[in-house]
Amino acid sequence: MPTEATFLLAGLLIVFAATGWAFAWFGDRDRDSELPARINADYIKGLNLVLNRRTDEALELFLQMAKVDDDTLETHFALGHLFRRRGEVERAIRVHQNLLARPNLGQAQRDQALYALGEDYLGAGLFDRAENLFGDLTASDTVAISALERLVYIYEREQEWEKAIHAHRRLQALSGKKSSQVAHYHCELAERARRDGDLKRARECLKNTVSSEAGALRGALIRAAIAEEDGDHALALDLYEQVLDKDSQFMPEVLPALFDCYAETARLPDFERYIEKLVARDPSAASSIAYAAIIGDLTDSEALTRCVEEFVFGDETLAELVDVDTLRTATTEHKRQALERISSALRSLGLASARYRCANCGYSTRRFIWHCPSCKQWETLRPMQRFQLDSVIG
Ligand SMILES: [Zn+2]
Repeated sequence: MPTEATFLLAGLLIVFAATGWAFAWFGDRDRDSELPARINADYIKGLNLVLNRRTDEALELFLQMAKVDDDTLETHFALGHLFRRRGEVERAIRVHQNLLARPNLGQAQRDQALYALGEDYLGAGLFDRAENLFGDLTASDTVAISALERLVYIYEREQEWEKAIHAHRRLQALSGKKSSQVAHYHCELAERARRDGDLKRARECLKNTVSSEAGALRGALIRAAIAEEDGDHALALDLYEQVLDKDSQFMPEVLPALFDCYAETARLPDFERYIEKLVARDPSAASSIAYAAIIGDLTDSEALTRCVEEFVFGDETLAELVDVDTLRTATTEHKRQALERISSALRSLGLASARYRCANCGYSTRRFIWHCPSCKQWETLRPMQRFQLDSVIG
């Protein structure tokens, strides 16, 4: 919901618009001095009504003012914006339709009013109408880029990835700005084709993902999943390792599948060496490997067990929950059983809590996603890779 601050800010917009109008009126024009005084009083009255939340009366007053003089245009845009931000979309639509009904509206002003009406339709959830309006405005001299941005937003929301690709291409051509998100649209199409069992189409879509780093990374993950489905575990294994080489934060997503690939190709000793190599190269990787092993319930690897042991013994909060000193000196079998119990409890805790958080808006979720459903940004979800033990010990 819009905050009180938004409401006051929009009210201030009206004051600025009124002030701008007053300067224009008194500075440049030579008109009957009684008229501006009357309209100026109307502005103040309208503003008071808005600020006192008597919105219907304010709306009627401002709509009447539009018939009086063209200089009230900006005020109307501000008012329409105010209504939309407050969720009063029908009133916003009325303001903008009223503007569009004016016969002497210039092309730029008409496009601006149509764009604002499109925003109203979006606010009302009327996506088809908004899409049509923004589609028409892609030919505008003034708001084409904004209209294409809104079209991309609509197609992302509706998951119409082909249309999103097309609109995004036009946007890039017009604005000259490059963005990696189009690679995700191709990835979305590839994943959809893979789910439908159309692996040929999935591979076709993946050809377009290599143009950006993120697209290449996500594309490699999809290729690996396809290779696994095809029974080509050696290829899947290579692809998973490429992903971890580029970005180790995918450890919890990739490690269980990578372990399976080593097992399927009868190369489990190589898996041990691979994990040892990762830890030797970067000792801090051990804790994210341990986290992934615990969450993925990977118990049949000595290298992973060593990471888990180090993780459990080294965590200060965990030390408060388990008798670490006794555990250190316990027999191998007793230690193994204790670690399994602790890992099992941590896994339950980990799977029951949010494991990923959006670096942009703070949205958190249990499973990894590429597109934040809250702020609509791509690639902003980050794994937290920690067990929320604080909530257990209070
Ligand atoms: Zn977000």
